[in-house]
Amino acid sequence: MDRLRMAVIGVGHLGQHHARILANLPDVNLVGVVDANPDQARAVATKLGTTPYECFEPLLDKVEAVSIVTPTIHHHSVASAFLRAGVPVLVEKPVCRTVAEADDLIALAKKAKVALQVGHIERFNPAFEELVKRPIRAKFVEAERHGPFTGRSVDIGAVLDLMIHDLDMLLALVGGKVARVSAVGAVVFGGHEDMVNARLEFENGCIAHVTASRITRHPKRRLRIWAPEGYAGIDFVTRKLTLVQQSEEVRKYGLRVSEMDQVTRARLKDEVFGRYLQVLNLDADRKHDQLTAELRHFIDCVRTGKTPRVTGTDGRDALELAERVLDALRVHPWEGTPAGPHGPGGLPTPAGFLFPPIQLARTEAA
Ligand code: NAD
Repeated sequence: MDRLRMAVIGVGHLGQHHARILANLPDVNLVGVVDANPDQARAVATKLGTTPYECFEPLLDKVEAVSIVTPTIHHHSVASAFLRAGVPVLVEKPVCRTVAEADDLIALAKKAKVALQVGHIERFNPAFEELVKRPIRAKFVEAERHGPFTGRSVDIGAVLDLMIHDLDMLLALVGGKVARVSAVGAVVFGGHEDMVNARLEFENGCIAHVTASRITRHPKRRLRIWAPEGYAGIDFVTRKLTLVQQSEEVRKYGLRVSEMDQVTRARLKDEVFGRYLQVLNLDADRKHDQLTAELRHFIDCVRTGKTPRVTGTDGRDALELAERVLDALRVHPWEGTPAGPHGPGGLPTPAGFLFPPIQLARTEAA
C-alpha cells in the first residue's frame, strides 16, 4: 500500500502529538509540518525527520490529507484552502469560530467529495465507545469538565474550549433537537468566560446539566446518565465506564421492601448494589490511545471513502449548540433584572475580600 502523504498545520501543544503519531504510522509519509512560529516548526520537524514550513501554501499540491491544529480562529482559512484543493481535512474542535464558517467548510468538502472530520476526540474514548454500543435512552444527564487554567486556547472561552466536547457527545447520545437552553457563566481572568453551567432541555424530554470550568485546581471530566434502562457513568480521565441496572426481579416486581423479613431488610443496605441493582465496571485497555485511534480512523475514511465518525455537520451542530449556550449566558441577569449586571463579563462588583489578601514577594507574584 502506498504511504499516504500527510502534513500537520499548527504544531503547538496538541499539533506536535498529531505529527508524532503520524510520523510513526507505517502507512503514512509525513511530508511536512507547518507552524506560524518558525522555531516551533523547525524543532518538531527535526525531531520527526520531516520538513518544516512557515506557511501551508507550498503543501497544497503535495499532500493527500491534512490535520489542522492551529488556534480555532485560523481553522476556516486553513481548512478551506485545503478543501478547495481537494485535500481531505481533519480539523481540531471546535470546527470553526462561527456556524457560517462551518457551513462553508461542509459545502466545500461536499463539492470536492472529500472527508471532513472534526477532532471531537472523546468520541474515541474507549469508555464512550462502550457506552454507545448499548441500548440507553438518556433522560437526565450531568456532564462535568473541569481543568486548571493553562493559558492556551485563550482565543475562545470555556464553552468552545471544553464544554463543546460534552455538547457533541450529548447530541450523539440523546439525538433530536434542543428546545431550550439556559446558562450562567463568569469571566475570571478577562477575555472570555472561564466557567459555565448550562441546562439543556431536549425536545424528546431529556434534561442535561453541563458544567465546564478552566479555572479548577483538580481536573475532572465525567458524564453521568440516568435512563429507563439504568445508569451509566463515565470517567473520561481514567476511561472507566460504570453501568448499573435493576435485576430482572426488580425490573418486573420492584423492590418489595414491605414483604421482606427483618434480616433481609437489615442486609438491604449492603446488598442493594449487586443483588437488586447490578453493577458492571469496564476498564479501558491501557494501550488504547484515543488520538491514535482518531487519526487512524481519519486515514481509513480517506482511503476507503467511509463517512467519518465525527463529520463536519456533527462539528457544526455542536458549535451551533455552543453558540446558544453563549447567547444564554450573555443575557443572564446576576441580580434578577436585565437592567442590572448581566453576562459572563458583567459580574456585580465584589462586596469585599473573603479573607485578607495574602501579600506575595514581588518575584513570587510576577
Ligand atoms: P497552541 O497555541 O499550543 O498551538 C497552536 C500552534 O499553531 C502554535 O504553535 C501556533 O504558532 C500555530 N499557528 C497559529 N496560527 C497558525 C497558522 N495560521 N498556520 C500554522 N500554524 C499556526 O494550541 P493548542 O492547544 O495546540 O490548540 C490547537 C487547536 O487544537 C485548537 O483549535 C484547540 O481548540 C484544539 N484542541 C483540541 C483538544 C482536544 O481535546 N481535541 C485539546 C487541545 C486543543
